[in-house]
Amino acid sequence: MKPDFEIYDTTLRDGAQAEGINFSVADKIRIAEKLEAFGVHYIEGGWPGSNPRDMEFFVQARKKKFKRAKIAAFGFTRRKGVAVEDDEQIRTLLNAETPVITIVGKTWLLHVHEVLRVKPEENLAMIGDTIRFLKDHGKIVVYDAEHSFDGYKDEPDYAMATWQAAEKAGADVICLCDTNGGCLPAEVARITKAAVGRLNARVGIHTHNDCGFGVANAIAAMEVGAKHVQGTINGYGERTGNCNLISIIPTIAFKMNKVGVPPASLPKLKELSQFVDEIANIRHDPRQPWVGQTAFAHKGGIHVHAIERVARSYEHIDPTAVGNHRRVLVSDMSGRTNILVKAQELGFKLTTETPELKTILARIKEQENLGYEFEAAEGSLALLIGKLLQHREPPFALDTYHVSMRGDGKSSVCEATVKVRVGDELAHTVAEGDGPVNALDTALRAALVKFFPHLKKVTLTDYKVRILESSTGTAAKTRVLITSTDGKNEWGTVGVSENIIEASLQALSDSIEYLLTRK
Ligand SMILES: [Zn+2]
Repeated sequence: MKPDFEIYDTTLRDGAQAEGINFSVADKIRIAEKLEAFGVHYIEGGWPGSNPRDMEFFVQARKKKFKRAKIAAFGFTRRKGVAVEDDEQIRTLLNAETPVITIVGKTWLLHVHEVLRVKPEENLAMIGDTIRFLKDHGKIVVYDAEHSFDGYKDEPDYAMATWQAAEKAGADVICLCDTNGGCLPAEVARITKAAVGRLNARVGIHTHNDCGFGVANAIAAMEVGAKHVQGTINGYGERTGNCNLISIIPTIAFKMNKVGVPPASLPKLKELSQFVDEIANIRHDPRQPWVGQTAFAHKGGIHVHAIERVARSYEHIDPTAVGNHRRVLVSDMSGRTNILVKAQELGFKLTTETPELKTILARIKEQENLGYEFEAAEGSLALLIGKLLQHREPPFALDTYHVSMRGDGKSSVCEATVKVRVGDELAHTVAEGDGPVNALDTALRAALVKFFPHLKKVTLTDYKVRILESSTGTAAKTRVLITSTDGKNEWGTVGVSENIIEASLQALSDSIEYLLTRK
């Protein structure tokens, strides 16, 4: 199917310029393969002139033979006062041997005068010479017109002249860039419309998110005729990031009813977003539109009641269309419907007729009142419901424990001893750790692993401590939330106590019990 909009991904170049992101060549290849399978049209692999790692990416990408996506190398227009064929950076670009070369050039006279320090005519020649030279070498050329909107607002005629110079030299796409991310959607629409009206080449849009308008500005341009959109997965990029393709892609399909990526890829959107975060070693943003964990999470009792009747009463699309799913949260704001839906989601058979329903609801509210919080602790919630509903014995019982710490002023070590009972057997272990919680976790698991070998695979992925304010003048309470994983699933558990170690131990022991009892 011919796309209405071309999707140009620059995660590996503009995205890699984000603080805290550092892709190896192997990382870049894995992401590129994922993007190719997903169906984006262009993958910008890097800037071969800037570092050897980017050049190595192009060497390896050639061996992979990308079929659907076109690989692009990124660079600048030729240097001032140098013939294009003598420009080293342009040679390096050709050496990348990509089908597409993306060239960035200046639109804004401020930059021409103050940053490049060349005459306006020389800037036009730099744009034209570079593009013509690359076209003569058989390349598809995308021209990224830096600061298009700021430049046009200052000097519309000059901005237009730079775009026309690129078009005349044969550029396939003239991509207008809001490089500083400071323009409003209406300005972007007005200026893009002017460009589309005067140019015959395809017009593209590249935006940044400095005002939080990265996606909105790209959509504004696409609504008035831009047919090519650049951005990054999860919006990575310099400062506050680039236009987020994870929002652009479903917007094209579900809001504009046009074609971007192949429709069969849309249910894999959440997976793509998580995959790239994992490679970048960034925790997936729970509030990310469309694909975040909370994107279809409902908390208010009235909302939950309504979506049970008609999902679209509080959902803008069906979450499964982008690979996400609906979640119902349980808290002291919950009504009976929340508990029913949540319990069913956790695998319990519960209906309005179940006699224990009232007790369960009352116990959740009572526990929340004591400082427990179940929204992020579904493991503890499942245990609570299970105990009240099935009246079953826990798989193990903690008999006693002891924690101590010794140090010499420079370093310290903690030691924990635990005694647990499983059926009629008693296990007793000692373990050391960096801190008391680490020592307890190690000792508890060492004691239980003899009985339940699959505990070996469990690790803690997050540990959060929150001091709850005290209104009674007694010691403040501590709430501990932990997240555990067995490599496949993640679950959260909670503990509350005036003693942080006691609270941690509750959460740790809930985490293990949940793993041992879940369906
Ligand atoms: Zn950019």
